[in-house]
Amino acid sequence: MVDAKNPPEVDRVAASRKAIAARRGRASLKRDLGTRVVTPQDVMRRVDRDPAAATLRITEFLTALPAIGEGKRDRILAELGISPVKRLGGLGVRQRRAVATWLDRRFPEPQPRAGRSRLLVLAGPTAVGKGTVAAQIQAAHPELLLSVSATTRPPRPGEVDGTHYYFVDDASFDRMVENGELLEHATVHNKYRYGTPRMPIERALADGRSVLLEIDLQGARQVRRAEPSATLVFLLPPSWDELVQRLVGRGTEDAEERARRLRTAKVELAAQGEFDYRVVNDDVARAAADVAALVRRVN
Ligand code: 5GP
Repeated sequence: MVDAKNPPEVDRVAASRKAIAARRGRASLKRDLGTRVVTPQDVMRRVDRDPAAATLRITEFLTALPAIGEGKRDRILAELGISPVKRLGGLGVRQRRAVATWLDRRFPEPQPRAGRSRLLVLAGPTAVGKGTVAAQIQAAHPELLLSVSATTRPPRPGEVDGTHYYFVDDASFDRMVENGELLEHATVHNKYRYGTPRMPIERALADGRSVLLEIDLQGARQVRRAEPSATLVFLLPPSWDELVQRLVGRGTEDAEERARRLRTAKVELAAQGEFDYRVVNDDVARAAADVAALVRRVN
């Protein structure tokens, strides 16, 4: 006979490990919601296959969302007719539908627009892997032009002038701006200036080629203004914790620079709704294939 109230020691250890893992999973999910690495709709969609999502209380779910405090949370629950003790996995079909409808109204997900051009912009927070994804796309699609930016940042070991960037001094960058040679330009992480040379892009587009820009949020906004038909793609990390890990792991920035980049990352993540598509970089090959499929779609 198994005594349910007094399980054997091994079971208790396993159960407590499981409980700790579940708690960690929920804490990580809440950080992802707060930093908008995942949309609340994403979390609702994975309730049936993700234990962290399933066991998250509706109250915690709501207060993890940007700009929802406890007062607002209680009004929303009353309006939707949901008990505050419910966990997401315990919501009935009608309640799930009510939550989804409310979320779509309050946090609309970006909708792809029609009439896209062959100019694609890939943006996303620091260390998300934009460069790696862009390089994979370029390798698989040599006909695509991967724009080479100008920057005032000094080269890192292994970076080649004219391949990774055009490394220029401040005076040359000023001249490029004055002569209107840049399609967009911005100071990134409050430090160095980066800009996209206009000429190679115009030539490639005129030749019927697709063009991929790997730039920051400010640049993406300028491109949208200059070329409203450009396709804007936002690359997301699988989670906020993973983003921090990747930034620490690559070891190219000191602690102060990492903190600066993470602050920018929060601002960038909050703007993902301005983009036409969002792609999660949990697997570089798949993310590259997803972005490449968008290139093909607009060809
Ligand atoms: P990194 O210094 O790590 O190579 O790049 C820093 C940031 O600058 C990245 O977010 C990258 O996307 C962005 N960036 C690179 N080239 C350009 C550009 O031409 N314009 C803009 N606006 N951002 C760029």
